[in-house]
Amino acid sequence: MVKFPSQLLISTKHQKHQILQPLFGPFGTTLITDSNFDTDAFGTFCGGIPRLEGPKITVKEKCLAGMKFSNTLQGLASEGSFGLHPAYPFLTVNEEWVVYIDLLNQIEVYGYSLSLDLCFERLNNRNAAQLDHFLNRIDFGKQGLILKDESTGLVIQKGISCKSELFRLLKAHPDWVLETELRSHFNPKRQINIRRAAQNLIDRMHSFCPNCQAIGYWVEGQEGNLPCSTCQNQTNSYQYLKFHCFECRHEELVRRKDKLEEDPQYCPICNP
Ligand SMILES: [Zn+2]
Ligand SMILES: [Zn+2]
Repeated sequence: MVKFPSQLLISTKHQKHQILQPLFGPFGTTLITDSNFDTDAFGTFCGGIPRLEGPKITVKEKCLAGMKFSNTLQGLASEGSFGLHPAYPFLTVNEEWVVYIDLLNQIEVYGYSLSLDLCFERLNNRNAAQLDHFLNRIDFGKQGLILKDESTGLVIQKGISCKSELFRLLKAHPDWVLETELRSHFNPKRQINIRRAAQNLIDRMHSFCPNCQAIGYWVEGQEGNLPCSTCQNQTNSYQYLKFHCFECRHEELVRRKDKLEEDPQYCPICNP
């Protein structure tokens, strides 16, 4: 079993240590934070500070900066983004990255999760009649809101999770637009996805390269084409998972286990 340190730093301002503690507890690890470390310098969701790099680079930089700040050799960080699905650009997705870095043992392992089940919505004052329905749908209270001025786009109040406060603010700012909070402590659906990314990281930490025994041996691509179950011609569905080792570059094609043949509805010949 992989050993995490008994106290593991997580670079966060947003209570992610509470979200992830249940996953690290079984390893005898307590997640700790340094409240003086300001992760907002790495970009914020509401547009205040632009994020300069992709989330995978940002999460590594955040982790290393936090470790340096707290003078420790091991650390954890997480980073998420909302955007369009890489393959289906009409869908919005939440991608979460988690990284574990251990400078002592030369370990750098990432966990990743993509989710389509997210809370990423807005409502403006012209649709005020739908406010009640909107609040119910997003599960307001557990899910927080941001209030902006619609004409200027400026943030008036972040982290709203109380009804009386919300109604007071709406009255005071008639040109309002409400957006769902994307910060993890105000977004329960994001919390679920962050936990999935961390579980993926833990799974990768326990997957070893058959050639050099390095940790983090994992699927990095797909290859081949499944035959159609009716006509046996090639479909566009992949047939093999490609495992890759970042240490020795060993690669291996493993036949996918969920299906040996593709349904004819996905066959370009049977269902053109
Ligand atoms: Zn290897
Ligand atoms: Zn076919």
